[in-house]
Amino acid sequence: MKRKLLAVGLAAALSCATCAQAELTLYYNPDGGACYHADAYCEAVHENYLPLDPFGASQLDEAPYALLTPCTCVLEARVPTLYYNAEGGSYYHTMANCAVVDDEYLPLTAFPASQLGQAPYASLLPCERCTQETHVYVYHNADGGRRYHSSPTCYTVDADYLPLQEIDVRDLPASGLEACDACVQRDQGMALPVAYFNPAGGAHYHEDPNCATVDAAYLPLSVLPGLLRGSEPFNRLTPCETCCK
Ligand SMILES: [Zn+2]
Ligand SMILES: [Zn+2]
Ligand SMILES: [Zn+2]
Ligand SMILES: [Zn+2]
Repeated sequence: MKRKLLAVGLAAALSCATCAQAELTLYYNPDGGACYHADAYCEAVHENYLPLDPFGASQLDEAPYALLTPCTCVLEARVPTLYYNAEGGSYYHTMANCAVVDDEYLPLTAFPASQLGQAPYASLLPCERCTQETHVYVYHNADGGRRYHSSPTCYTVDADYLPLQEIDVRDLPASGLEACDACVQRDQGMALPVAYFNPAGGAHYHEDPNCATVDAAYLPLSVLPGLLRGSEPFNRLTPCETCCK
C-alpha cells in the first residue's frame, strides 16, 4: 500500500511541467525486477508486471534503484530511426541501404525520427521507394494531442492516454503535429555509446570501466547508457582525460 502511494507521488512529481524538463523517466518492477527500463511496456518483462512503475533518472544512485542494472531496452535505446545522405541527399529513407541511393553513399547516416522537422532534416522529402516498403512510426495521442513522440509512453502525456497510438512518419506533415521537446532531447543521446561512471561520486565519465584514475575500491565502474548521458544528473559529467579520446 505504502509503495503504491509512493509510485503515485513520483508520477505526479514527474509530470510537473517546469521541474521534469531535464529529467528522463525510467521504469522498474517494484515487485522484484533486477533491471531498470526505458519503456513502461518493455517486452522483456512479463505482462503481469506491466506497466512498470516510473522513477526519475536522477534517483538512480539512491535506494532501491541503485541496485538495478540497465535492461537491453535502455542499452540499445531503440528510437524510431530514419536515414539520409549526409553529403547532400534530398530525401529521407527508412532503410540504411536503400536501393535507389548510389552504392558509394551507403550505408546512409541515421538520425532520430523525432528530428525530422528540424535542421538539417526539415527540407527532406520521403523516398518513394523505401518509405512505401518499410514504415517507421512515431506516436501521438489520437484523442487530440498536438505533439508527436518517439516513445509510446512519453512522460509528458497524461497517463490516461498511454500507450499512445502509432502514426507513420510519412503522415506527419499533413497531421500538423509538432515534435515533443522531451522526446527530441532524449533522442539526441541515441547515437552516444555506452560509457562508465562511479555512482558513489566523481565528476567524469569513462570509456574504460577499469580506468586507472579511479580508486580501485570503485572498480569496475557502472554502465552509463548513451540514453542517459544528456539528462540530469549525468549531463554534468565531463569526459575523463585519461581514458576518453
Ligand atoms: Zn527493458
Ligand atoms: Zn529510400
Ligand atoms: Zn514526448
Ligand atoms: Zn577514465
